[in-house]
Amino acid sequence: AGAMENAGAVFFRETLLLLDPATASLAERKRAAEVIAHELAHMWYGDLVTMAWWDDLWLNEAFATWMAYRVVADWRPEWRMWQGFEHDRSAALGMDALANTHPIYARVRSVAEATENFDAITYEKGAAVVRMIEHYLGPDAFRAGVRLYMRRHREGNTVAADLWRALEEASGKPVARVAQTWIAQPGFPLVSIAPARDGGPAALGVRQERFFADPRVPAARRRGKWPVPLVVKWRGGGGAATGRFLVDKARDRLDLPASAAPAWYFGNADAGGFYRVAHDPADRAALLADLSTGLTPVERLALAGDQWALVRSGRAPIESFLEVADALGEETDYDVLDGIAGPLDLIDEQVAEPGSAVQAGFRAWIARRFGPQLERLQWAAAPGEDDPTRLRRAALVRLLGGVAEAPAVLAEARRRLDAYLADRSALEPDLADPVVALAARVGDETLYDRYRAAVAAAATPQERRRFLLGLGSFRTRAARERTLAAVLTPEIPTQDVAFLLMRLLANPAARGETWKFMTRKWAALRRRVPPLMISRLVEMTPALRDPGYAREVGRFFRTHPVPEARRAVKQALEVFRLNAELRRRTAPGLARWLGGAGASSQRL
Ligand SMILES: [Zn+2]
Repeated sequence: AGAMENAGAVFFRETLLLLDPATASLAERKRAAEVIAHELAHMWYGDLVTMAWWDDLWLNEAFATWMAYRVVADWRPEWRMWQGFEHDRSAALGMDALANTHPIYARVRSVAEATENFDAITYEKGAAVVRMIEHYLGPDAFRAGVRLYMRRHREGNTVAADLWRALEEASGKPVARVAQTWIAQPGFPLVSIAPARDGGPAALGVRQERFFADPRVPAARRRGKWPVPLVVKWRGGGGAATGRFLVDKARDRLDLPASAAPAWYFGNADAGGFYRVAHDPADRAALLADLSTGLTPVERLALAGDQWALVRSGRAPIESFLEVADALGEETDYDVLDGIAGPLDLIDEQVAEPGSAVQAGFRAWIARRFGPQLERLQWAAAPGEDDPTRLRRAALVRLLGGVAEAPAVLAEARRRLDAYLADRSALEPDLADPVVALAARVGDETLYDRYRAAVAAAATPQERRRFLLGLGSFRTRAARERTLAAVLTPEIPTQDVAFLLMRLLANPAARGETWKFMTRKWAALRRRVPPLMISRLVEMTPALRDPGYAREVGRFFRTHPVPEARRAVKQALEVFRLNAELRRRTAPGLARWLGGAGASSQRL
């Protein structure tokens, strides 16, 4: 939905090309660079060498996605592209943990089935697997193999086996044996690691099984084996070290160097592998004690993501994730802060009852734990401040204002917005998105009118998009009604309709009536929104929370089938159910933790 790689005539949406580096946020610049690199990568992957059929769509999209991160990471190392990729890897792991996932290589018998596969599995899981293969072979052998594949098949059509053959010839390693399983098998492994019972102090026992988000999936279906290129990091007497292992059995033993005597170990160094790790509780405690110096930001992000996945799947109590989040209170990396905002928001929206004392207590804990950082940083950037600091401030504003809805942060966003409306240079670019979104939450009719005027008079496509999506965050009844009344008129370009509806579905004050609006205006909506984006809208419906809505969503799409969104509907219904079970299982633990000694900042 952002661009299209026609050879010699690549199409982009305006926000990706008409970009003023002086006023664009770093996120907007990174996104533009990444999409442009992605489309240009398609000149090779897709245009010069084309997959024989849609079942190998990943040969186009996984490679273009991986290549874009690869070249932009080299071009602008300070942008930490692979650290940012962790958000995408995490989204793909989330979808791939559902029973209704699909393998990267997916059978395709119709146009609708081909369209369905333009999703996080084909793009982001695919890119993560390509990256894992590159790490396994080493960058030089991998590049030599890809070049051989390009030379051999230029102006031709290919299947996955052609790629494996070229990579094997270039590397001398059994690529097909390792890679084919990852492409053909749905899901991914959960790798459990604990000290080996029969081994010395430096031996680890590992187990793997297929990971499901649903605790009720029977053991027989969890049996699954992958050849896992495992990269383990540990802290021993001589500092941090890593070791590489290929684990392809259900149970295995890893022998670290005898001198290692690890104080802790971490099972996915650099978060380079597409799997989740369950560390044993003693190891997790040791990791938490050494979090800021022992693990890199992307590893801290992976640790938090893994722990949250274990909670969601019923393998760990919610307290275990809250302990990780609590340990990250002094976290200074923006990607880690943005990464934990996702699970924290889900707890706020799906586990805590809206308006309850538990929700208020949860939000107060977030404000206590992360608020002091923002107070120290202040809202205005210091002269000469670097990008990571600016991004950290924006992440804290999103966490404290967006998730915890701290009144002081919302009020400050509202004040800063007035200055921004009067003078676009009054706000540093990285804060523009969160401030426009947060001010809308507490905005009245007058402010709504000013947003509409700002959309009409915007000087850049980024500014236009920012205020247009901001319309979806207003909570007053009149504003909600006016936005819904406008959404299917020419005032909202077709390319933005789905994004505005997604913003409305994320808005607790608007989501119920937005869903009703969508069902009532379905025929008109179908004419304005392409099938690919219908799937994205369907993915948002579990925000409606109540099981009654799950039944409505299921009923509606049975009577109004969208062939291209068939799988998305099944996934959404599965997520509705998983969220309800998560609520039942973890709400008591959340209340206990907030009321007890768990929330460390309460003891201060
Ligand atoms: Zn693409």
